[in-house]
Amino acid sequence: MSIFGNSIFGHKAPDTAPEAASAVGGKGAEKTDAQWREELTPGEYHVLRQAGTERPYTGEYWDTHTAGVYQCRACGTELFTSKEKFDSHCGWPSFWAPLAEGNVRYIHDRTLGMDRVEVRCASCDSHLGHVFEGEGFGTPTDQRYCINSISIRLVPQEDAQVSGTEQEN
Ligand SMILES: [Zn+2]
Repeated sequence: MSIFGNSIFGHKAPDTAPEAASAVGGKGAEKTDAQWREELTPGEYHVLRQAGTERPYTGEYWDTHTAGVYQCRACGTELFTSKEKFDSHCGWPSFWAPLAEGNVRYIHDRTLGMDRVEVRCASCDSHLGHVFEGEGFGTPTDQRYCINSISIRLVPQEDAQVSGTEQEN
């Protein structure tokens, strides 16, 4: 069952802004392992740089509904937004698409006896989580980007407090 053959790697996000690609390869790309150890907390380092996984239902964002943008915790690249976040009840923040396809990269991961697609930050190559497909969540892509809370940082939208109507955008 090669579920990722077509849709992930051949997927072209229709709303990908051209300037999104230029953000890739910026700061953070050439940091040494020692620098990462210094800048990140041990927990962040373990997940981001050693492809660890935080325990489900323990992260900051698995049940967050705040409007905003999720940045890479290692380099600050904007990776996901609250618009694509959905409740998967798996214990990790779940998104049905990245902010832009060029902002993340995919690696075939056959560790732990599983066949998965790892998701990394395209800018600094930090581990974010995995993406799964065809689980029937009823989202526009039928994909679930299962991302560690500790790999990302939510920047709340400025006007998020304005309750009531949300007509713009
Ligand atoms: Zn990054």
